[in-house]
Amino acid sequence: MISNRCKNIKPSEIRKIFNMATKDSINLGIGEPDFDTPQHIIDAAKKALDNGKTHYTPNSGIPELRESISNKLKKDNNLNINPDNIITTCGASEALMLSLMAIVNKGDEVLIPNPGFVSYMSLTQMCEAKPISMKFDDDFNIDIEGVKNSITDKTKCIILNSPSNPTGKVMDKKEIKAICDIADDNNIIIISDEIYEKIIYDKKHHSPMEFTDNCILINGFSKSYAMTGWRIGYLAVNDNLNKKYNLIDNMIKIHQYGFACATSFAQYGALEALNGDQSCVYKMVNEFRRRRDLIVKGMKKLFKLTTPDGAFYVFPNVEEYGNGTEVAQKLIKNNILCVPGVAFGECGENNIRFSYATKYEDIEKALEMMENIF
Ligand code: PMP
Repeated sequence: MISNRCKNIKPSEIRKIFNMATKDSINLGIGEPDFDTPQHIIDAAKKALDNGKTHYTPNSGIPELRESISNKLKKDNNLNINPDNIITTCGASEALMLSLMAIVNKGDEVLIPNPGFVSYMSLTQMCEAKPISMKFDDDFNIDIEGVKNSITDKTKCIILNSPSNPTGKVMDKKEIKAICDIADDNNIIIISDEIYEKIIYDKKHHSPMEFTDNCILINGFSKSYAMTGWRIGYLAVNDNLNKKYNLIDNMIKIHQYGFACATSFAQYGALEALNGDQSCVYKMVNEFRRRRDLIVKGMKKLFKLTTPDGAFYVFPNVEEYGNGTEVAQKLIKNNILCVPGVAFGECGENNIRFSYATKYEDIEKALEMMENIF
């Protein structure tokens, strides 16, 4: 009864880890901010509910939110995006799915970061397309020549994710430009997952859309505003790309039949997130930075580690003690939850992903425990 499409997809390794958690576990596995959504955003959604904003919205989202996203893209990213070229989605997750479903056919090839966020591989397989690994050096710089050599006449798109889950790497402008050139030369679309844009410490964020028309920009509210459960994100394309392929209308078909619209009152929360006081973002990012500095200092005593520039993960190489899965199992038995790097692709087999979206004191405790274990 079950479709091949579904059978081909493996359940997420990350979920398995959480099932092993006990009440004594310190959770360095989870991929979401431990902060609650800022109060002014909650109040805006409550007000929307009280004011009857409980109906379907236009498929692409309420006009004032798309207008605000357009303003945000101008202010933060210096991009001129018409609000009509923006779709509000049920999280960045849905935006990724819409993008792939709209452009990828059975047998097409999709370049995905390896190691990379777990959904890229599964969504590509769901579209019956072939994921092709994009590899990195030890400091998580993209192997640009490798990307060039991977392009075939079946390559439809390249997924980029900066800042990266699981490595925390922020791509340099030069590196992004090099990928944009490859996309332009080969008529390939870059799907740019920028969900961790605001959680950045040392570098400046650049979107590939600054350098190429061949880009679908994906972002959302889950990470920057601690709104994971709200399920609200968006995608944007520029006028040239949209006119070339009628992309938005095509993506709207899938969105309309699969989702109808993003949750109405969550859209009003997102509107407040963009237009309200931004100090909540700076506060959260400052706390993440404090934790990053702590975990990097502690882990560098034990493992080989490139300091992450963004997101809230460290991705050390642990091969001195065994492969990533063996070492992760040992840690999990000792009540430190973490995710073996291989969950993000085989190139992560000697790594482990630790999230520092958890209390400072818990990170201190986990580091102390790890010093004893190793
Ligand atoms: N992209 C990346 C890289 C992520 O880490 C996540 C969440 N773990 C998502 C997309 C999905 O975000 P959302 O909650 O907006 O669907």
